[in-house]
Amino acid sequence: MSNALTIALSKGRIFKETLPLLAAADIVPVDDPETSRKLILDTNHDDVKLVIIRASDVPTYVGYGAADVGVAGKDVLLEHGGEGLYEPVDLKIACCRLMVAGPEGTPNAHGRMKIATKYVKSTRRYYADRQEQVEIIKLYGSMELAPLVGLADRIVDVVDTGNTLKANGLVPLEHIADISSRLVVNKASMKMKHARITALVNRLQAAVSA
Ligand code: AMP
Repeated sequence: MSNALTIALSKGRIFKETLPLLAAADIVPVDDPETSRKLILDTNHDDVKLVIIRASDVPTYVGYGAADVGVAGKDVLLEHGGEGLYEPVDLKIACCRLMVAGPEGTPNAHGRMKIATKYVKSTRRYYADRQEQVEIIKLYGSMELAPLVGLADRIVDVVDTGNTLKANGLVPLEHIADISSRLVVNKASMKMKHARITALVNRLQAAVSA
């Protein structure tokens, strides 16, 4: 862990929606990750760097201290488990819902339903709490396809407008959790870089509340 402050972010929606919050904390990247191929971006401060990684890798980088802080969706954090992490700020960005969805008008199957998802842990926990026996089929993307080709009866995925479900003849059926992006902080960094991280946390919290 160097003396710099390293912030882990993913490209796309989280990056775009985090940018104004970071600007409120006086952190402005010099490069644009959508056009630059660099994975480490400089900022207006010599000692603050952004690392650009896959959304699902953010808790891993921060958990191991390879980044001091990061921004991760609650969906990703629920899957990761959050070991080694504090989660001090709900940034209230990239909001969506984790839901069970399926073809319109199909009753719950008798016996064990097949559920396709990349959210295996959250899905297992949800059905275990309801004492429903299901078979979980792990996928890495395009979950909406699974019921259409008979791979699964239901999917568990994050839903925003519902347009993707609708375009594939699926409807949201059960709400599992409300999702938004969170600031996560490595537990050792919180001790070692306490003043800087506390200042960042406070400024981000103020920007969210404003
Ligand atoms: P929707 O607006 O429901 O059609 O969502 C479009 C696609 O983006 C769907 O495949 C969702 O799984 C995904 N999605 C929507 N919101 C989020 C989010 N906040 N984080 C990650 N994926 C999302």
